[in-house]
Parts: sequence; structure tokens; C-alpha cells
Amino acid sequence: MSSTDFSALKLNPDFLKNLSSLGYESMTPIQALSLPMILSGKDVIGQGKTGSGKTAAFGLGLLQKLDTTSFKAQAIVLCPTRELADQVASEIRKLARTVHNIKVLTLCGGTPFGPQIGSLAHGVHIVVGTPGRIEEHLRKGTLKLSNINTLVLDEADRMLDMGFQDTIDQIIEKIPENRQTLLFSATFPVEISSIADRVMQHPTIVEAPSVEESTIKQYFHLTNTDDERMTALRLLLAKHKPDSALVFCNTKLDTQDVADELAYYKFYAISIHGDLDQRERDQALIRFSNGSVSVLVATDVAARGLDIDDLDMVINFNVAHDPEVHTHRIGRTGRAGKHGIACTLYSDKETRKLDLLDIDLVDCTSPLPSDNYLNKPIKHPTMTTLKIDGGKKQKLRPGDIVGGLTGKGGIPGDKIGKINVVSNWSYVAVSSELVKTALQKIQNDKLKGKTFRVRILS
Ligand code: AMP
Repeated sequence: MSSTDFSALKLNPDFLKNLSSLGYESMTPIQALSLPMILSGKDVIGQGKTGSGKTAAFGLGLLQKLDTTSFKAQAIVLCPTRELADQVASEIRKLARTVHNIKVLTLCGGTPFGPQIGSLAHGVHIVVGTPGRIEEHLRKGTLKLSNINTLVLDEADRMLDMGFQDTIDQIIEKIPENRQTLLFSATFPVEISSIADRVMQHPTIVEAPSVEESTIKQYFHLTNTDDERMTALRLLLAKHKPDSALVFCNTKLDTQDVADELAYYKFYAISIHGDLDQRERDQALIRFSNGSVSVLVATDVAARGLDIDDLDMVINFNVAHDPEVHTHRIGRTGRAGKHGIACTLYSDKETRKLDLLDIDLVDCTSPLPSDNYLNKPIKHPTMTTLKIDGGKKQKLRPGDIVGGLTGKGGIPGDKIGKINVVSNWSYVAVSSELVKTALQKIQNDKLKGKTFRVRILS
């Protein structure tokens, strides 16, 4: 038994069995370093980026302590964004799926208040949410934290960046002091030590080896004109054929231009930037994460909290303004031990920014793929999204959609990908080769006895 075997831990056997069914064969470095301490009840500060497996590290810790016979909130996870909170909640639900009736509730802004109050009234074990909305519930008296035994601050640096310091303090005041506190952060500015000093007790610090050393292959390409840059991007995408690539631009204008230009050349690309409304942003993220769009073009701000697994590739269309941002960008590929590719396009004017990264450009600059790639057909995403004009308000559930798509005249269940049900719409990814059959099946049949409008998102 090696020290990265989950079975080396004192974990409830139900959780242990589930881990192998999830395909978690061995612990990631951050898990191996932090889980023994987390399970022994200590306060832990973990240097964990998205993709390091940190969610399972704290998730297993809080699940192991849960008393499922009591319907009082016992663990709370504070996250900087709704996307991260959703991701964390779904990872915890996955980890908890072999234990009956564990209630995980997300409480985030940008979603209606009423249903959250209803869910809280039914009882919950684990609350995952953004500081603003959680504090609002505390003020209204709809959430009580007097039974919390585990507090997790996830992506603490980002929460501080986003100005949540005071709100977090107000929340922590309502949590009993004899709790376990776990703090995860990708970076350690002084504000992190100061919050740790205030809210943690003799924390142990664990640092996982940096992700890029182990799994990310970096390439740098010199491109001096705008045209060269755009062509380089097309060549790289055509050569590597990623199922999922994130392209970073430094300005939101560029994100739109780059995505439009890629779309002109028939790439399946979309952009997210601050000017999109919540619905457009959600829709873009859903399409990217369900595999029906392969290229997402974003600014750093727009990509914040975007938590999508298995990015094959990150491309820096422009060099990031500072080295930390560069590291954060490329850390989105090569997650959980998988291999990732990070390509950075730079011009002579940008070499100074690369000096800060300690990159020796003479050694590291690579030639671009051959121009022949411009004539190769573009890979179609394996999945296509159907948008159904009915969602939570119409009481549609993922199970209804699976039911509606499968069966006579429908498509096999394993051709259905991610399903996202939001307030008035649902999105379901289906295998591209069967999209017409899927569309017809939902158009001709009813879902829960009602006909819903459905169309292909393209
Ligand atoms: P996180 O850093 O928590 O966002 O996790 C990144 C991804 O790694 C998630 O998709 C997890 O489901 C997955 N993951 C976490 N722990 C393991 C593990 N020990 N083995 C394989 N995959 C894992």
C-alpha cells in the first residue's frame, strides 16, 4: 500500500468504495499531504489551485464528520463565485453519493432568494456559497451557523481580491470557535496570513508541488503582427485539435474579435467577457463545459472562477501582464495529473513580460505548425447542445429530459451528455451525430405531459 492510496486513510468504507468507482485511483499530491491532517481534525492551509484535487481533500474531511441524523448545517464552504460554488457542491455530492440523504445546498447571488429559504427550511447538512448571499441569509435569520463544525475558505485569495474580506469576517463571527477551519488558496499574499492568524488555530501549511512542473508543456511562439497572431492561433488549434481550449486575451474587445474571426474560419468558438448578461454568460459556459463548443475566448476577469475540468489546451493570445496571472492561466490545463499544453504568442514588444517569467526565449521559442494545417478540416465537437424552453420553473428535472430523449424513436442514454436545468430553460448535450433524432424525439413527444419548444444551439 503506497502513501498515495486512499485506503491508507481512516475513511468511512462507503466513501472509500465510492472513490474507486469515481476513478480516483490514488491521491493527488495535495490530497496526500493534507487529508491525513484534515481527517485528524487539524486546521489546514492548502496551496491548492483548481485542478489539484483540493475539493475532494476538504470534501472528504467535512463529509467524514457529518451527522446525517441531524438536519442542521454542519459544514460551510465559502467560494468566490457562483461557478466555483456549483462545481464544489457537485463534487461533494459525487463524493457523498453512497451515503443516503446528504443535503448539500448552494447559496449564491444571482439566483432567486425564495427557493433558497424553502430549501433551508427543509434542513441541510452542507452549505456551499458566495459570501454576499450567505451573509444576507444570516441577516434575515434564514440560515443558522451555530452547529457548524467545519468552515472552508476556498480560493481565499480570489475572495479577498473580490473584496469579500468584511463579509467573510461577519460570517465567521456567527460560527462556533471550536470548529475546524480549512483554507485553500492558489497564492499567498500577506492578507492570507492575516486572515489565517485571525480565524485559524495553529494551522498546518501544505504546499503541493507546482502543477506546471509535472504536467504542463509550455510553448512560446513569436508573432509580430496582428495577422500573424491570428494565423498562429488558427494553426495551433488546427494542429492540436483540442476538445476544449481556453484562449486568453488581455482586453474584452479582443475576446469578441478573436472569437468572431475563429467562427469565420469555422472553428466552434465563443467568447465570454464582462459585457455579457448573466444568461449569455451561463449559456456560453454551459456550451463549453458540455463539449459542444471547443474554444472559449476570455479575459482573465471573465474566466475567474470558471471551473471546467479537462482543458486540453490554454493559449495566451497575448502575454499576461504579470507572472502570477500567467501561472494561473496555464494552471487551467494539465489538471489532476493529466497532460496539458500551454501556448503563448508573443511579439518583440512583449519579451520584457516573458523575462519576468524567467523564460529563456532563445531556448524556448518553438516554430509554428506548418501552413498546411490551414487547409485541414476543422474538427466538429463531439457534442451538440439542445436548448429546451422549459426549466426549473416548469418543474423540469434532468430525469425528465433523459426520459424524453431515450426510448422508442429516441437515442441511447450513453449518447446524452451534461444536462443543465436553469430557471426557464434547460440545456442538454447530445452526441452530434444523433442530434436530429434527439431534436425530433423531444419535438414530437411531450416532457411531463407538455410540449416544449426545443432548438439546436449553434
Ligand atoms: P479540483 O481541484 O478539486 O477542482 O479537482 C479537479 C478534478 O480532479 C475534479 O474533476 C475531480 O473530480 C478530480 N479529482 C480529484 N481527486 C482526484 C483523484 N484522486 N484522482 C483522480 N481525479 C481526481
